[in-house]
Amino acid sequence: MVRRREPERTCVGCRERAPKGSLLRVVRGPDGRVRVDPSGAAPGRGAYVHRALGCARQAIGRGALARALRTGLSQEEAATLGAEIEREVRQ
Ligand SMILES: [Zn+2]
Repeated sequence: MVRRREPERTCVGCRERAPKGSLLRVVRGPDGRVRVDPSGAAPGRGAYVHRALGCARQAIGRGALARALRTGLSQEEAATLGAEIEREVRQ
């Protein structure tokens, strides 16, 4: 039996690799706005984080997410994004 291998991505929170489908994608869109991408298919540069509060907080808190997206996040933007991710992760 041949199983199709799902591509893996690294969680920017804990740095562990996981199947893409099990991670939450965050994207910096063409407009420069950073947002959660539940579809996983929005255009722009993406970063991935486990659907876990611990990973989400590490990703935001250590600035790892902003680095992965090659952008800067103001404190306010980071807080807004953190809340968005937490909402998504809790579902
Ligand atoms: Zn993680």
